[in-house]
Amino acid sequence: MDETPLIVDDHDRYGRLRLISWWRQDRLAASRVLVVGAGALGNEALKNLALVGVGAIHIVDFDVVETSNLARSVFFRAVDAGRPKAEVAAERARELNPYIRVHAVNGDVARDVGLGLFAAADVVLGCLDNREARLWVNRQCWKTNTPYVDAGIQEIQGAVQIFTPPDSACYECGMTTQDYQLLNLRYSCPQLRPEDLRAGKVPTTPTIAALTAALQTQEALKILHELPCESGVAHVFSGVSTTMYSTRLTRRDDCLSHETYPEPTPIAVGCDQPARTLFDEARRIWDPSRRLTLVLERDLVTGFECRACHRTESLMIARTRVELLARACAHCNLATSPIVVSVIEEGEPLAEVPLRALGVAPFDVARLEAGPATGFFLLEADRARVLNPPAPRASNSP
Ligand SMILES: [Zn+2]
Ligand SMILES: [Zn+2]
Repeated sequence: MDETPLIVDDHDRYGRLRLISWWRQDRLAASRVLVVGAGALGNEALKNLALVGVGAIHIVDFDVVETSNLARSVFFRAVDAGRPKAEVAAERARELNPYIRVHAVNGDVARDVGLGLFAAADVVLGCLDNREARLWVNRQCWKTNTPYVDAGIQEIQGAVQIFTPPDSACYECGMTTQDYQLLNLRYSCPQLRPEDLRAGKVPTTPTIAALTAALQTQEALKILHELPCESGVAHVFSGVSTTMYSTRLTRRDDCLSHETYPEPTPIAVGCDQPARTLFDEARRIWDPSRRLTLVLERDLVTGFECRACHRTESLMIARTRVELLARACAHCNLATSPIVVSVIEEGEPLAEVPLRALGVAPFDVARLEAGPATGFFLLEADRARVLNPPAPRASNSP
């Protein structure tokens, strides 16, 4: 226990927080938190993290601000319409607390965020509105042993789930047969509009977003302070009856999310370099005698094949971009089939393509196989640009 008498310093930004017996401002200042989603929940979670002085925060979102966000998102203004949500939210959070670093990732969590950032985070906050993204974040957290606090809202109901790998139940353990069916629907109906699939049209209020994100951030703060925090549980709040209940999720031994990667070996390669460079560097430090194979974490579509006229159109996209997968042949107008690639072999033409174009994200962990051996390599050349990118110039609205 701290023996010093309580002296309230009104000039200390964190003075009232420091009065809490277990509060450790230095610990928060040294923490890194990844917030996935900059919608109603993400705005609130980011606001809370900025207020309490979490030292480094990364906020991820691929979407842009729309007028319909204004009634639920504390950081957005009418003049922000059309600007990336992550960028705007980060900018406003920096205004709220200029003594912390807030980094915007204007991209998709599944395609644009490397495993290295998940590993560097002390906790990940899921502020998402769909199962696909939650499942992806859950798996990335398990691979890197990073605690994951997920939040979800609908109308005036909210839920916060806490998962701590490797031992607790995870998000996928709690998925029902119906959840899997809805996930599969996305892949079997590429003609569904992405905006329908990505939801974001869930009816919610700013009150439930604030309540739920507050509870979520509070659990994250307990994790950052290493206070006891129940994991593998869901806390569900009903605003209709003003009641809350907690339920323990059952850990499933056959759950597909429970893969934890070993500590990766840092390698002096970045995602802008070709796969060949990764193979060459890995061979220098790993020295396997067999030919190397890069196992892609995200399936890659390298082209579209028309079975009728035997023509192939080359185009590299991630297989998760279902909205781009339904393509008609330019010659006969029949439906084409995507050519899916999940490994890159040393020496093949695709090894000359930059890792980024092969679907590898900045500061990712590359999984290489040499016969029966598997090696994990962290793309160290991307570290600075991901963990500590240069601060953007302050822009005071147009
Ligand atoms: Zn699980
Ligand atoms: Zn054709």
